[in-house]
Amino acid sequence: MIAAPLAWFCLGCSALMAGASLWLDRRQARAVRAGRGHVPAAFAETVSPEQHEKATSYALARLRLGGVERVAGLLATGFALLIGFDLASFLAGLVLPPGIGRSLLVFAILFLAQTAIGLPFLVWRTFGLEQRFGFNRTGPARLARDVLLRLLLTAAIGGPLLAGLLLLMRHMRGPWWVLAWIALVAITLAGPAVYLRLVAPLFNRFRPLRASVADPVRALLDRTGFRVGALLEMDASRRSSRGNAFVTGWGRAKRIVLFDTLIEAHPPAELEAVVAHELGHVHHRHVLFGLFRGVLVLFGLCAAVGWLSVRPWLQPAFGIDHPDPALGLVLAMLLAGLVSPMLGVAGNALSRRHEFQADAFARRMVGARPMIDALVRLARDNAATIVPDRLYSLVHHTHPPVLLRVAALQRAV
Ligand SMILES: [Zn+2]
Repeated sequence: MIAAPLAWFCLGCSALMAGASLWLDRRQARAVRAGRGHVPAAFAETVSPEQHEKATSYALARLRLGGVERVAGLLATGFALLIGFDLASFLAGLVLPPGIGRSLLVFAILFLAQTAIGLPFLVWRTFGLEQRFGFNRTGPARLARDVLLRLLLTAAIGGPLLAGLLLLMRHMRGPWWVLAWIALVAITLAGPAVYLRLVAPLFNRFRPLRASVADPVRALLDRTGFRVGALLEMDASRRSSRGNAFVTGWGRAKRIVLFDTLIEAHPPAELEAVVAHELGHVHHRHVLFGLFRGVLVLFGLCAAVGWLSVRPWLQPAFGIDHPDPALGLVLAMLLAGLVSPMLGVAGNALSRRHEFQADAFARRMVGARPMIDALVRLARDNAATIVPDRLYSLVHHTHPPVLLRVAALQRAV
């Protein structure tokens, strides 16, 4: 354990990142408290002082939970690095002889442990936080079913994939990870269609979009020259009162999905604006561009993991006494993942630019007013923080602060 330089290095990096996160959380809490008591002018008509106060308390409660989660995550990482990884491999070795089966068991033990650690926080978030602020609509039975179903799906999909990866690692000479990369790219491409047809229906019901909304949306599609495969609504209301919408799939098989919660909370003109915003992402090829970026990042990740995972020094440098190819993969991913905060911040910056572009597209298609109204109402209904800390927002948010989005739309009027 003492002679495990890479374990200590990773733990040090994790501690630094957790420290930085907690510092950002404090900045954000200060910004949220500073905004307490006065609603920005653009929101004053829609957001009442009580609703603003609720958003303030909600943001602070979320930061508190997030802080506890970060500290727990750091402790779990420390345990995994210094004891857990090796212990998982040792336990698997008690049950199975060396081979693919044993490696899969190592993965299973680590994944179950991770799920178990996250479970109290999921329960706290759902029945403590979200419940208290009136967002939660799920019960313990449904939550338990969701967690179990996700575990089963992960085993059913992830198991064979990992087995294939381990087989490649063992039997292929040369850069086996190139094949892994190709497989991952194929999964990324097929993902949306498979997800919406096979996975999502296990959790939610989808039906054709109700006519009162579908008609204006179809008119919008005709006007903008988009072709989509289907307009759907999803019964998100069985879990949460939060509204959302998304476009998924490629080419003409694209599907537009609106949450029922969104439909019930917004008048048709605003729904049209929300759909126009989503079409803006398609129009500006954000999805395609994101896919291209994802494929490149995946290549770098596969190359790094492919090279690192089979280095003979890797597992000893983590103090592993019971080496296994599964641990090679996990530890290589951990090392390669150290760059992910940087990638995340860069990705967020790009994503925020894209949001402004999609808003501008919606403004050109349906006008600024309905888009502004939709954003303000969404911010109110989701108890969003209207004026976050700049640095916190740069690191954590994929969307620009709603105040800036509204300001950009107003400027263009
Ligand atoms: Zn967007």
